[in-house]
Amino acid sequence: MLIKSAEYTISSARVEQCPAGTLPEFAFIGRSNVGKSSLINMLTGREHLAKTSATPGKTVLINHFLINGQQTTDNRQQTKSLSPRGEVGRGAWYLVDLPGYGYAKRSMQQREELERMIKGYILRREQMMNLFLLIDARHEPQRIDLDFIEWLGENGIPFSIVFTKADKLSRGKLGGNITHYLNELSKQWEELPPHFITSSETRQGQQELLNYIEEILEKC
Ligand code: GDP
Repeated sequence: MLIKSAEYTISSARVEQCPAGTLPEFAFIGRSNVGKSSLINMLTGREHLAKTSATPGKTVLINHFLINGQQTTDNRQQTKSLSPRGEVGRGAWYLVDLPGYGYAKRSMQQREELERMIKGYILRREQMMNLFLLIDARHEPQRIDLDFIEWLGENGIPFSIVFTKADKLSRGKLGGNITHYLNELSKQWEELPPHFITSSETRQGQQELLNYIEEILEKC
């Protein structure tokens, strides 16, 4: 898939505030600092679309970006009125940047609010076609991610795993880590979710991910 346009649309604190209409959405989530903003920028070929930040855990909103909608201006009113599908043309979709979780410096109350926001979006946003769960390829499987994956499975949420920062590992170490991760998942899952290996530095995985999104869009 070619990304012809990518534009920030709106940031929402709750699922009710997300854009109206039924455009298909693809959401991205992961622990703070996993490389989510970098991946979104790499995928869309826009260097500053999602804000990479030196302060992990800062984004606590659901950010929508309209992809291939040929929207000309960053105008919230205009975007809100783009409700029925088709008005923005075929092939348009939303890329959704969900807040990073697992940031240690948040209070218990902030964490609970964040969890409610994230889970509310995932459970209630019917047009979310797939959730991409980002995992840092360098790390051992983390409890917080495994629990989240289990919750996705229990709730029948369509998701895939995206290993990030592949360039930071040698080929051998990378392969070993991925196999180790998938083996860990196999303990809970009969069938593994699709997975992608990516690097925002080398653009590894860009076409695979975009093609995967395109395949799903074609079935919509
Ligand atoms: P976010 O908090 O998940 O949005 O993470 P960011 O995209 O802001 O990335 C966190 C840090 O990891 C930044 O210093 C990025 O430059 C770095 N980073 C992200 N992706 C990659 C990657 O694919 N390769 C390398 N080498 N560094 C990365």
